[in-house]
Amino acid sequence: MNGTMMHESLTVGSLLDHAMNYHAGTEVVSVEVNGDVETLNWGQISHNARRLAAVLDKLEVPVGSRCGTIAWNNRRHLEIYYGVASSGRITHTINPRLHPEQLIFIVEDADDQVLFFDRTFLPAVAALKPKLKSIKHFILMGGRDAEAEAMLDGLKFYDELLDEVEPVAQWPEIDETSPAALCYTSGTTGNPKGVQYTHRSTVLHSLSGNQPDGLAIAARDTVLPVVPMFHVNAWGVPYIAAAVGAKLVLPGPHLDGESLVNLLNDQSVTMALGVPTIWMGLLEAMARTGKKPESLERTVVGGSALPPSMIDQFRDKYGVELIHAWGMTETSPLGTMNQLLQKHQGLSDEEKALLRQGQGRPPYGVALRIVDEEGKPLPHDGKTQGDLQIRGHWIVESYFGKGESALTADGWFDTGDVATVDEDGYMIIRDRSKDIIKSGGEWISTVELENIAIAHPGIANAAAISARHPKWDERPILVAIKNGEADVSEEALLAFYKGKVASWQIPDKVIFVDELPLGATGKVMKNQLRERFGDVLLES
Ligand code: ADP
Repeated sequence: MNGTMMHESLTVGSLLDHAMNYHAGTEVVSVEVNGDVETLNWGQISHNARRLAAVLDKLEVPVGSRCGTIAWNNRRHLEIYYGVASSGRITHTINPRLHPEQLIFIVEDADDQVLFFDRTFLPAVAALKPKLKSIKHFILMGGRDAEAEAMLDGLKFYDELLDEVEPVAQWPEIDETSPAALCYTSGTTGNPKGVQYTHRSTVLHSLSGNQPDGLAIAARDTVLPVVPMFHVNAWGVPYIAAAVGAKLVLPGPHLDGESLVNLLNDQSVTMALGVPTIWMGLLEAMARTGKKPESLERTVVGGSALPPSMIDQFRDKYGVELIHAWGMTETSPLGTMNQLLQKHQGLSDEEKALLRQGQGRPPYGVALRIVDEEGKPLPHDGKTQGDLQIRGHWIVESYFGKGESALTADGWFDTGDVATVDEDGYMIIRDRSKDIIKSGGEWISTVELENIAIAHPGIANAAAISARHPKWDERPILVAIKNGEADVSEEALLAFYKGKVASWQIPDKVIFVDELPLGATGKVMKNQLRERFGDVLLES
């Protein structure tokens, strides 16, 4: 051989080792369940993760088995991410907002051996315990607690377990293609499906997703992932923050707007990430209290369609850049992120703002295409819309426990989204294929109708859905929440659509409600709205 390079496995443990070696003193701040704010650093996180690995060895939890978590974003959860995966087990984050039957289903499907959980979830876990048959160790994420012990027989305490062991000196050798973490899709239809990320896919996702045109998190940043650690690994932030040595702020359970603006300012956060509903709460609280996010430079928003008016509000009122991103459980999740190209630099502010409303472009490592109903590729001209497919280093190949491939015959993953892609790869989600409205043979994007409604000052949130129609098969209707005491009528809201969309795309009806049904990851459950309101046009 004429000379070659070292081969080092791309492992999750290597990310934490970097943080330990070069950023040990950088803070990790954690809001605890009882509201206390703990300040640790990457050195202590690493120490605790190594102690946790020793605990798992001592409890004889087999390498390659899954350990579940039901927890907020806090420092113990971070230690579990690393201690479990770096020692060859798999971190299975469970969404606490799942229905109990779904929770039982996924614990059983994953065959979880250990369950780590926050105090908040003790009553639920204690009630479900007889049905969580695979779990050998129930571990409360905190110190000894007599009341908790009385509620759950055999309960173990995280802090005590860690105090009884010496940290492992080094991580075991791990094949980079072995699994590190497991997440389930939220399963709006049918049972949730597991997506198991490998060490390699996690590291590549972290490195590529954090490029300058992506999340661009640097050592000088203070990062607040409001997006839960149970929602696709908080979009990779726990890994990325270690890889670059950023200060991490983990917000715990209180994610209302006022708690968030206080935390942003108390910790001098420079960058935050979350779904649109979180930022709606923040904007509302800031408008009400007059508080401003003093150090915040940018926020990353994804998970569901981002109303363009939100970008304008953050920029114009608070000087905060909003970066739109798209992804899903099956894509680790970063699939696209929106930054402009060199050729856009001379454009007017309005033109730039328009370009930044879309979901953005893929980073190195993933590719996108759109196809027609037969699976034939369609042009990337920014106009033609088709089913969005994706492939790459951190895209699912097959679901957990299912033998068969989840891909098309030619190796692409079908996202279930309908999108346009332009020559530069800018992608715009038009809708989810199950939500899009087909009226008299023409497609109507619910996302577009919602964006217009939310831009109306009297509207706090809105969902457009299809309603059955005797003549057109389906027509759009809007289910909307008014902004506080705002006095907006159905006629006024429908008039607001004039000139913004073609007249046949304007909804047939507006139904005002006090709240919209939200799913486990904060998305509007349009299937529930369709069940409730799908026949309103037939009734009149
Ligand atoms: P689930 O599919 O169960 O809702 P995910 O969190 O994996 O759970 O959701 C992925 C879906 O969320 C995408 O397929 C897409 O429809 C939607 N989504 C994610 N980000 C965006 C975005 N920026 N704009 C519009 N839709 C988005």
